Amino acid sequence: MKLLTHIAQHADMNPEQIAFRTEGKALNYRKLWDRSRRLASLLQAIKVERQTPVVVYGHMGVDMPVSFLACVQVGLPYIPVDTSIPMERVRLIIEKSGAGLVINTTDNMLDVDNVPVLHSLALQLEEEEPIGNELWIKPDEVFYIIYTSGSTGNPKGVQITGANLQSFTDWMTSDFPLGQGKVFLNQAPFSFDLSVMDFYPALQSGGTIHALEKEVINKPKLLFENLSRSALQIWTSTPSFVQMCFPNPDFNQTMLPELEVFLFCGEVLPLAVAKELKERFPRARVFNTYGPTEATVAVTSIEITGDLLAKGKALPVGYPKSDMCIFVMDELGNPLPEGEKGELILAGPSVSKGYLGEPLLTESAFGTLNEMDTYRTGDAGFIQDDLVYCQGRLDYQIKLHGYRMELEEIEFHLNQSDYTKAAIIIPYAPNEEIEYLIAAVVPADHNFEKEYKLTAAIRKDLALRLPAYMIPRKFTYHTAIPMTMNGKVDRKKMKEEVFV
Ligand code: AMP
Repeated sequence: MKLLTHIAQHADMNPEQIAFRTEGKALNYRKLWDRSRRLASLLQAIKVERQTPVVVYGHMGVDMPVSFLACVQVGLPYIPVDTSIPMERVRLIIEKSGAGLVINTTDNMLDVDNVPVLHSLALQLEEEEPIGNELWIKPDEVFYIIYTSGSTGNPKGVQITGANLQSFTDWMTSDFPLGQGKVFLNQAPFSFDLSVMDFYPALQSGGTIHALEKEVINKPKLLFENLSRSALQIWTSTPSFVQMCFPNPDFNQTMLPELEVFLFCGEVLPLAVAKELKERFPRARVFNTYGPTEATVAVTSIEITGDLLAKGKALPVGYPKSDMCIFVMDELGNPLPEGEKGELILAGPSVSKGYLGEPLLTESAFGTLNEMDTYRTGDAGFIQDDLVYCQGRLDYQIKLHGYRMELEEIEFHLNQSDYTKAAIIIPYAPNEEIEYLIAAVVPADHNFEKEYKLTAAIRKDLALRLPAYMIPRKFTYHTAIPMTMNGKVDRKKMKEEVFV
């Protein structure tokens, strides 16, 4: 596979170049490649059956990239699982994916049953003979699996093949001005596919991945000190993350003099954010990209120029990647003419094989058309002069501070709590952008004297199953959930009740 061949070549020609670094640790290309080949050899000795997923658990440690590359060198797809995911959800992912092995890159013990765990202490790899390239992942085999929120209450695993990823990486390194050997920001944990946007393009082009750990992101002082020392050239993040940096007036081209390119993906890039960036970073180019995890990170792109900003309209998400075909469909599945709003459908080599072990879910969202794989995004949008515009969702999937989630999944888990009879989630979005979530709850019988104690108990239940970013900030209590005439939950009425 080209991607792996390139990494091997960088290790050979430029061994001391840093491939991956965090606040405290760095791995050069020689070490990254050598360690991954030794771990691959160990994995082969463990005899996990080819194409059986391996869960790689950790945050941003250097053993994460080593483990990813080791897995794919012996034909095993990896599932990156961040430490911010609660243990019960981790266990569910292990069980549902049929993982044959867990590689734990943290210093903590992992409490999982029935699956062998390779602890980071076991990554004493000096003894192992580095593996060759005979067993590398083939283009039609699964390379990685990323779990995203699912409306039925369980996360769903999107399977990305070697060919999907190679097509994406080639597009990034050829259609964007990423150059060779540049320093890339990695903001998103590996369990989100935004991390793929910098990770593989950086490795294919011999660049350095500068990863921000959550301990750094959560402390503005540490974050800006880190950025000041970073010599970043390519910035990849959600628009929410860059907005989080704006309160600091020193966040500008003086802080990051070498910054050349901003790449955004994952949620709406507000016009005001793009404008402010152009003012603060006059030497940098800004790109908006769009795509779901199911179509390998991103499938459209556009450079946000002064002309586009001057139009003062909502920004388009861009032109399709050249091998992708994007069209708009009405509710009955008929293609719509230019300019008409409907559901965005993606077709071509970026589209995933589907959700792991979920044939029904896969069938409802994936298909084929003229021998191309297709994916129904659930995004509302239209196409004008070949430019794709995104206009929100057709379902209850949302983005909150850049995180993708299904309101129905949060509702499912709320309803599992002993303290609730019924519940629905209302996003609070005073100016289009969602600021936080409100849980409107009909409580079950309970003995709490104060409402805040009830809230604390429900929150505790949720925290067992959902990552912190999916837990509602506010809870309101009601006697009943309003229903529409045809017996469906009346979200509009509930919203009115919550906001009186
Ligand atoms: P994820 O799978 O986390 O990348 O989320 C994919 C969803 O995020 C898409 O289906 C869109 O709803 C939304 N999204 C991604 N990129 C953009 C963008 N540039 N503008 C607006 N929405 C976006």
